Amino acid sequence: MPSPYAEELRFLFPALKTDEPLSRHTSWGIGGPADYYLEIHSSEELAKLFVWARAHGLPLTPLGLGSNLLVSDKGIRGVTFRLRGDFEALRFEGDRAVAGAGVLLPQISRAAAERGLTGAEPFCGIPGTVGGALQTNAGTPEGDIGRLVREVRGMDVDGRVRRWGRDDIQFVYRGSSLGGQTVISVDLQLRTGKKNDILASMDQQLKRRAERQPLGTKNCGSVFKNPPGEYAARLIEAVGLKGFRVGGARVSLKHANFIENVDHATAADVQTLLDALRSAVRHRFGIELELEVWTVGEL
Ligand SMILES: Cc1cc2nc3c(=O)[nH]c(=O)nc-3n(C[C@H](O)[C@H](O)[C@H](O)COP(=O)(O)OP(=O)(O)OC[C@H]3O[C@@H](n4cnc5c(N)ncnc54)[C@H](O)[C@@H]3O)c2cc1C
Repeated sequence: MPSPYAEELRFLFPALKTDEPLSRHTSWGIGGPADYYLEIHSSEELAKLFVWARAHGLPLTPLGLGSNLLVSDKGIRGVTFRLRGDFEALRFEGDRAVAGAGVLLPQISRAAAERGLTGAEPFCGIPGTVGGALQTNAGTPEGDIGRLVREVRGMDVDGRVRRWGRDDIQFVYRGSSLGGQTVISVDLQLRTGKKNDILASMDQQLKRRAERQPLGTKNCGSVFKNPPGEYAARLIEAVGLKGFRVGGARVSLKHANFIENVDHATAADVQTLLDALRSAVRHRFGIELELEVWTVGEL
């Protein structure tokens, strides 16, 4: 596909990639090409990108670790970017953690534990970045990221830094009101605890994950939200679809709310499988399963 803006963008960002397969950047290993793909290393670079994209009317898509995303086989139009460099900085101020949007969640859990700070343990096994986690309000039954937020900083389309206090943002089960805003960093409020207890709790949580989840396969975590008072995995098992396969995508034999890419699965395979699961559960239980993974591009 021709890339009409490649020369201009490469002048501003020499490391620009065009038609970059997003299957390289998602935990499912699925996704067509990004027209333009960039790693952005500082707020100044990000502001430059935003101002340029606005002037040219090109859409922008931030990407974290791609661990909660179903990217279309047709890919993503416009510029897809990942925040690295300055955005991967993590520091502590007393009992607060100040993390850039590109920091990995388990890194926060581990560093907080080493300092005897509690609150971030639930993130120890979530393979995502701060930016993705704030959009999706990532967490576990032990707690989500939203409940720790003191302040989120983001950048608006004019390249200006914006700040949202805790009360300016709504966090709900696997969602937040930040939709569409680009997050650049967060302040998290932790509490003093006992280092050994914190480390023991994290070990326990990681052990539980290893027992229940198909770690080491290409997956995207839970694909559906748990309906109130129910478990999506239980419903899928009850309709007999554990292990059900469409193309290269299969419902995990270990955890029925996980879909694994077992053999060059496409986004279309996953979409067909998701539709089949939803329809079977609706038919049998009258429950509408809601997606937990986010979709991007035309599916
Ligand atoms: C094995 C496994 C286990 C998992 N377990 C859990 C779990 O226990 N709990 C849980 O909540 N999730 C879980 N997940 C899902 C996923 O890891 C989390 O949702 C994670 O927070 C997603 O972060 P990410 O950086 O990968 O975001 P991505 O998947 O890259 O992006 C998710 C969304 O956030 C947006 N986004 C990314 N960065 C930014 C930014 N800087 N500013 C604005 N928007 C941005 C993207 O555009 C996209 O819409 C699991 C996934 C796997 C593979």
